[in-house]
Amino acid sequence: MQYKRILLKLSGEALMGERQYGIDPKRLSEYAAEIKAVINTGIEVAIVIGGGNIFRGVSGASVGMDRVQSDHMGMLATVINGLALQNALEDAGIPTRLQTAIKIDEVAEPFIRRRAMRHLEKGRVVIFGGGTGNPYFTTDSAAVLRAIEIEADVILKGTRVDGIYTADPEKDKEAIKYDNITFDDVLRKGLKVMDTTAFTLSQENELPIIVFDMNKPGNLLKVVSGEKIGTTVQL
Ligand code: UDP
Repeated sequence: MQYKRILLKLSGEALMGERQYGIDPKRLSEYAAEIKAVINTGIEVAIVIGGGNIFRGVSGASVGMDRVQSDHMGMLATVINGLALQNALEDAGIPTRLQTAIKIDEVAEPFIRRRAMRHLEKGRVVIFGGGTGNPYFTTDSAAVLRAIEIEADVILKGTRVDGIYTADPEKDKEAIKYDNITFDDVLRKGLKVMDTTAFTLSQENELPIIVFDMNKPGNLLKVVSGEKIGTTVQL
């Protein structure tokens, strides 16, 4: 196997499946099966989950809410998704811990780096909820931060497109996919991989990012096995 420990970033929207809002239980169990296949190989899996299927801070702010208050709602949305994902993983027989950046002791463990790493070593999936715990950040930033902290080998950004393209492939049929690209080229070409804060944090820490289609069955296992799918961003 190519990696020992991975950090999988899933957006909140990915959990919607065919729905317009909220969580699709079918999608959750499909993801759980994908993750189980990876755990069975002995690779350690940590997950950062977004909250966009429930609430985004900027949306609240755009209709007049206080931004910080609104971001707190967004962070709590990620905890709801984390609980749902934990449930689906445990239904699939995978031991799982949810750790949150905001303390909710009755519901989840607080984020403690050493404890998270110990869970991973024991073969438990660790889900990080609550983003970074700070307003004005995104769960992409949380994904990079946690990946660095737990010394993950790579960030796997599971999306609904199969990589990074010269233009948005859902809008431009001429768009061409990159198999590999450097951090510098992503910035130079103004391509959208993650928000700039998250992206530069990954670059500065030489942490590669692989963007791939999470909705294609078997893809997650292929990526961790080193099969060349999606787009790899590295130095
Ligand atoms: N959020 C935040 N700080 C963080 C991470 C997330 O305030 O460190 C809030 C923010 O309001 C954001 C929401 O949580 O809009 C949901 O996260 P995100 O938009 O990253 O979710 P995704 O797009 O991955 O579903």
